[in-house]
Amino acid sequence: MIKIPKPIYIAMIEHARKESPLECCGILGGRDGTVEKGFEFSNTEKSPIRYSMSPQEQLKVFEEMEKESLEMVGIYHSHTHTIPFPSETDVRLAFYPEVFSVIISLKEETPVVKAFRIREDAIYPEEIEMI
Ligand SMILES: [Zn+2]
Repeated sequence: MIKIPKPIYIAMIEHARKESPLECCGILGGRDGTVEKGFEFSNTEKSPIRYSMSPQEQLKVFEEMEKESLEMVGIYHSHTHTIPFPSETDVRLAFYPEVFSVIISLKEETPVVKAFRIREDAIYPEEIEMI
């Protein structure tokens, strides 16, 4: 289970809406599965079907998280036209089996947010608790 404070949950959805029809992406920093801070990234792919984060931006955020003793709890991105389930590309590019993969779907009028852990053997759905 991943615990996400309401303001961060709302900020992720707003970020997704702002970037739509392109995918948005970001990192969720925190401790023990509880998110404390969200970091918005720019999608260097500028694509409606995939995303990637620039290494420079990642480095900056990792440094900031280290300073505040935060771990990378999750990585989020949006699906602007599809359901909130990891795509083949998401699975291929999932390098962190312990990190939650949070997907915000804008397919329906009401955004749907789902979390997963993508492991080599399978995709595991995880619960999201808004705190
Ligand atoms: Zn995706």
